[in-house]
Amino acid sequence: MSGEMKVFRTAAELRAYSDAERFAGRRIALVPTMGALHAGHLSLVEEGRRRADSVVVTIFVNPTQFAPGEDFDAYPRGLEADLEQCRAAGVAAVFAPEPREMYPDGPEGGKTWVEVAELSAPLCGASRPHFFRGVATVVTKLLVVARAQVAIFGEKDYQQLQVIKRMARDLLLDVEIIGAPIHREADGLAMSSRNVYLDAGMRSEALVLSRALALAETSVRHGERSREALLERVVKEIESAPHAAIDYVELRDPETLELALETLTGEAVLALAVHFPHSIGSEERVRLIDNRVLTIP
Ligand code: AMP
Repeated sequence: MSGEMKVFRTAAELRAYSDAERFAGRRIALVPTMGALHAGHLSLVEEGRRRADSVVVTIFVNPTQFAPGEDFDAYPRGLEADLEQCRAAGVAAVFAPEPREMYPDGPEGGKTWVEVAELSAPLCGASRPHFFRGVATVVTKLLVVARAQVAIFGEKDYQQLQVIKRMARDLLLDVEIIGAPIHREADGLAMSSRNVYLDAGMRSEALVLSRALALAETSVRHGERSREALLERVVKEIESAPHAAIDYVELRDPETLELALETLTGEAVLALAVHFPHSIGSEERVRLIDNRVLTIP
């Protein structure tokens, strides 16, 4: 990879770039993000660089995946700092469109949606019913424009990764969807753009998520086979943090996302979503997610 990083604001510019790259026989890896980049995002860029010649990062806070009252307006944004990080990471091109470029009919979207049935329903889909429709639609648009051969998504958003894999398969999209491991702070907290909303006290309480995942892993290693007993232990651990309010704690099949059987066998994903108070102290809450695929010995 050489030359100056390109920054595109329109789909037409990105399409022209992708066509030229493909014509030159170069493989493109797409890394879709909502910006406020951190080391977790950069680990996806690294993975992209290993798998392709040119990494294209998209930075777009997608309005259609936020419900009214969610943090769309307050979502952290900082394009200049993001571009600097992309440059330093060897990104070939950044696509940072305005909402009207992606949604000419307005930020509530157009008439056409991509919906991935079943996989979108539980977990994050239960508490955020429009979320995966927004995600699947915007990722489809990005893939169609960028024509990447490979696209990288974090396992941090585990359900999202499964939804996108399924969508790419069902729509016969000519792209390989790759999951990259969860990047964590040294103390175990999964990196997230929303972590900046936590004050020092909540930041330290939030460690309960990774602790609960580790506890579950140890429990199955020591012979726990009951789904309910395991969930109970995990819930108790999370509730030991005084300000943690659980959205969900569930054990599901890692691929189909169906509920794990009461007697655990094979593999199960333990998925957590927990609210903490926002540092601005209002009624706003910060919703953190984390997960681990448990292998039952
Ligand atoms: P976001 O900007 O939060 O929408 O995330 C963009 C991409 O980065 C998604 O594929 C996320 O799963 C991924 N991602 C976010 N945080 C992490 C993390 N801590 N480790 C790995 N991937 C991450």
